[in-house]
Amino acid sequence: MRVGFVGLGAMGMHMARNLHRAGLLAAVWNRTPEKARTLAAELSVEAPPTLEALGAGVDAVVTCVSADSDVLEVVKELAKSLKSGSIVIDSSTVSAETARKAADILHPRSVEFLDCPVSGGTEGARDATLAIMAGGSEQAFERGRPILAAMGKTITYFGPTGSGQAAKATNQIMCAGIIEAVSEAMAFARAQGLPLDKIVDTLGKGAGSSWYFVHRAPNMVRGTYPAGFRVRLHEKDLKICREMAARHGVQLPLIEMTLVHYRRLIEQGHGDEDISTLFRLKDALFAAAQSGKTKPGC
Ligand code: NDP
Repeated sequence: MRVGFVGLGAMGMHMARNLHRAGLLAAVWNRTPEKARTLAAELSVEAPPTLEALGAGVDAVVTCVSADSDVLEVVKELAKSLKSGSIVIDSSTVSAETARKAADILHPRSVEFLDCPVSGGTEGARDATLAIMAGGSEQAFERGRPILAAMGKTITYFGPTGSGQAAKATNQIMCAGIIEAVSEAMAFARAQGLPLDKIVDTLGKGAGSSWYFVHRAPNMVRGTYPAGFRVRLHEKDLKICREMAARHGVQLPLIEMTLVHYRRLIEQGHGDEDISTLFRLKDALFAAAQSGKTKPGC
């Protein structure tokens, strides 16, 4: 099977490399073309000039772009040239509604669509250990399985189109709670005068540990927050979760609180940093109290 990859960002660059290792990658495309040209030259694959040209030469396309409108733009372009029977696998995190719209765009051309958002961070993308949550027809899922297996380790079919995104939204709510807890605990530990590197080593093996604590608390120790998972991307995801909860008439406190914090970080110019940058706000609470200033609560 010839696979094309679209969206060579922090995640996509690794995922495309893993498809290449599995002998599946035929072509890459990126909005900023230089990234695609450089990777294509390194891996000896094609770098077609347009999405339409990429679509014409492959049997399947994996997309990993930023947000809902980006997925729909890309899918509309691909739909112009994809062959009947081919598959589009979208690994971006977007709404279930967007997944259904993308499937509707491709359906008249007899092209299948799978929503397959991923979890596991840039490390999971690099190591091909992503957890992948799939939605779409079961038949398309089985056809797409070898492609998914090249990029991830835990691959689960959840049901019809949109189900993968619903599962991912569930994950994003957990991530909000965990990053809030990790950053708050680390700011507390620092205020106690504890050696933060030892805190990470020791509590990383304790009952309160998590992927975020082990992999992202070190950012808080160093005071650098390279993306990673950008604040503005998780903000986008939590807005999707908020809308989905609102359809049930519910407002979830964790989502609301984290969105307030992310807005504040974005306004302070930290929107493109990893979400562990939330430590800045928690640490500032202690700093403000120390200097006797009254600052708005976190
Ligand atoms: P990046 O910001 O690093 O990369 C985004 C990619 O999308 C870039 O290649 C960008 O192109 C491309 N892109 C954006 N808009 C468009 C558009 N309109 N048309 C074509 N290409 C476009 O993001 P990530 O790789 O971190 O994330 C990608 C997706 O994966 C997001 O939906 C995110 O929520 C999800 N995700 C991210 C995780 C993470 O830890 N980073 C973990 C799990 C999921 P260009 O190079 O030109 O900017």
